[in-house]
This record gives sequence, structure tokens and C-alpha cells, in this order.
Amino acid sequence: MIAVIGAGPAGCYYASLARGREVHIFEEHQAVGSPVSCTGILTDSVRRVLGDIPDDLVMSRIRRFKLVAPGGRGMYVDLDKVNLILDRAAFDRHLLRGALASGAVLHLGERFTGFERTRRGGYHVFTTRGRYLAQTIVGADGPYSPVAQAAGLYRDRRYVTGLQARCRCPGLEEGVTEIRLAVGEFSWIVPESASVARVGVIGPEGRDLQRDYRAMLDGFTPIEDQSGVIPVHDPRQRLRKPGEEVYLIGDAATQVKATTYGGIIYGLLAARFLAEDPHAYEQRMAAKLGRDLWISLQMRQFMNAMTEEQAEKLIEIFERDRNKQIISRHDRDFPSKFIVQLLMKEAQLWKLGFGLLRNRMRGGRFSSRRPGVPRTKALYSS
Ligand SMILES: Cc1cc2nc3c(=O)[nH]c(=O)nc-3n(C[C@H](O)[C@H](O)[C@H](O)COP(=O)(O)OP(=O)(O)OC[C@H]3O[C@@H](n4cnc5c(N)ncnc54)[C@H](O)[C@@H]3O)c2cc1C
Repeated sequence: MIAVIGAGPAGCYYASLARGREVHIFEEHQAVGSPVSCTGILTDSVRRVLGDIPDDLVMSRIRRFKLVAPGGRGMYVDLDKVNLILDRAAFDRHLLRGALASGAVLHLGERFTGFERTRRGGYHVFTTRGRYLAQTIVGADGPYSPVAQAAGLYRDRRYVTGLQARCRCPGLEEGVTEIRLAVGEFSWIVPESASVARVGVIGPEGRDLQRDYRAMLDGFTPIEDQSGVIPVHDPRQRLRKPGEEVYLIGDAATQVKATTYGGIIYGLLAARFLAEDPHAYEQRMAAKLGRDLWISLQMRQFMNAMTEEQAEKLIEIFERDRNKQIISRHDRDFPSKFIVQLLMKEAQLWKLGFGLLRNRMRGGRFSSRRPGVPRTKALYSS
């Protein structure tokens, strides 16, 4: 039996691909897909993983980005390929249907509490309802990953907090996502309809973030809180307990790009690679995403060091036609290609980069270690 812990997108998609094997998914919540802690924005590259996304899962489509500097100066970037805004709960349930169709068994309201190795080489998986015998354990259990903790793979994990609410917003520009530079680490107003948007900001937990969030919500009426926690990618994170059949995918494995803190597509890719060949999983992930994850971490550190004047300068640089074209075309899930193109074409970016490096060396803020992270008792001892 394969025990998949967590029925988020990574866990459900993995279970849908493990056809022909006995798969059990354990989900601590009573329903799949809720509560929602996500903006649900996906680039077109999701189609390379899942194919076309059914229309009933898509609430709106984004054709333009509006970048706004702290002084109010803004610019539009037309996207070559539209971004999709998902009904995130429906998306998770859609992936779950695929898993159930492949024969997976779902255990709702059942929390994983730990595991131990059996004498015969398998694992006893412990949950709030009992004990199961498994040959493989897949931790798709989100940022705090109790599986990573029980397997000794948790490391010194860092987090950012995403504060987000669905809001009634008068005067929304449909099809346009607004990004406000130098507000939190990353901030957004993403319309899901003509009058409702997902409004949020990400950064280290604390007073500054609360202040930025209040500023983002100014003039809007919140109707649903969708806040949550996001792990910061750790390049040294192991995806597999060495020599064991215990794996991590998605947020559990910190597979999140640090530029925008999106993790859905990376988690889906991880699920696919693991299902296709567990033993090549770590190497394939490193080859496919290692560079992009690393570059997005570096970009994040530079962006965190940006002053308001530098944000204005960035807009000025991006407004140049040749740069705008590169940004319009690029896929932000895979930044390594476009960042090289931009750096090759734009000497001003180097100058700005050196300025940011100086700020960084004087000390910039980055993610926080979350106090009081719930620890799962590590039943496994190697
Ligand atoms: C405010 C916010 C906005 C975001 N916006 C975007 C976005 O626009 N685009 C994007 O790509 N990403 C976004 N993200 C990140 C995205 O939500 C995650 O990367 C994604 O949900 C990760 O999927 P996952 O399946 O790995 O984990 P999750 O979706 O976290 O699923 C993990 C599952 O495991 C379950 N679980 C945990 N512990 C246990 C246990 N002990 N036993 C049983 N079950 C357990 C949880 O209940 C959960 O259902 C956002 C995150 C936040 C907080």
C-alpha cells in the first residue's frame, strides 16, 4: 500500500497517477479543498502538466499585469499567454476525482501522527483512527509536513505568511492583476469577477506585514479570509529519506518559488516525477527545477532589499519596449531563461542589481522562523 498524507493538489494528483497500486490518501480535514488559503493564479505552463483545465474550474483569466511603484507610477505588461484564476476548492476536488477514478481510497478527517519501520521493511503508519501497513509513504502534507518531521527531513524550515481576503472591490479592472511593489515581499489584487478580487500580501509574520495588509485592504470590503503559511524553498531540502521509501512532494518539500510564492505547478510536477520513477525523483526535480528555484530565491533576496526609489527605477527599466517584450513573453514559473535575457540586454539592470546587493549587505529582511510549529512525535528511528 502507498500511504499518501494530504489531499491537496500534490497528493491528489500523485494518487491519480499511481494507477494499479493500492493507494490510500489520508486528509485531516473533513472535506477536500477547504479551507482555501490560496489566490489560485496559475501560468499557462500548468497545461504542460495537466493538459487543458476545465472551464468550470476557472473563475477568470488575466491578460495584463499592472506594476505599481510606491509613488503611484504604474505600468502595464500584456501577457502573451493568459493566466488562469482558479476556483481553488473546485480544482482540488477535480484532482481528487482523478485519484478516486484511479482506485485511490480517501480517508477524510484522519490525521497522520507518525510512522515506524516494520521488521519486514515496510512501515506502520499511525493516524488518529488506527494503524496501517504501507510499503511507501508520500508526504504531500503541506508547509509543516508532519511526514518530513517524522522522517527527520524537516530541517530548519522557514516560512512567510500570506494574508489574503476575498473582497468586494469597486472599480476593478477585469483581466488585470495589480502588483504593488515594495509592499510586503509581494502583494496583489487579483480579480475573480467584475466586483470581487483576491487581495493579499506576503512577508514575514509581524507588525509590518499587518500594516501592509491594512493598506492593501483600504477601500475594499473583505468577505472571506484566505490567509495561510508558505514555506520558503530550502535548496538543501531532501525529497526522500535516504535509502527509504519515504518521499516529500509539494509544499511539504518546500517546492515553492520565492519570487511570487506560488507552489501549485511545482507540486504537480513533483507528483508526476515521483509517480513515474520514484528512484529518479530527486535527480529529475533537481534537473528540471533546481536552477529556477535557486534563481527565484536570489531574486527574492534582491527584491527584499529594494528601496522605494529603486522600485521606481525598476518600473522605468521595465517600461522600455524591448524589456517589456521579454517580460510579456516570459514564464515566471521558470525565471532562469528570462532573467538571463534581461541581463544581457539591459545594462541598467546591472547597475540596479549592484545597488540592491549593497542594500543586502547592509542587511535586509527575509522570512521568519515560525514559533510554535506543531511537532509530530518522530516515531521513526533510523
Ligand atoms: C495566501 C496564499 C496565496 C497563494 N497563492 C498561490 C497562487 O496564486 N498560485 C500558486 O501556485 N500557489 C499559491 N499559494 C501556494 C499554494 O497554495 C501551495 O503551494 C499549494 O497549496 C501546495 O499544495 P500541496 O498539495 O503541496 O499542499 P496543501 O495544499 O497545503 O495540501 C496539504 C494537505 O495536507 C493536509 N495535512 C496536513 N497535515 C496532515 C496530517 N497530519 N494528516 C493528514 N493530512 C494532513 C492538509 O489538510 C492539506 O489538505 C498560495 C498560498 C497562500 C497561503
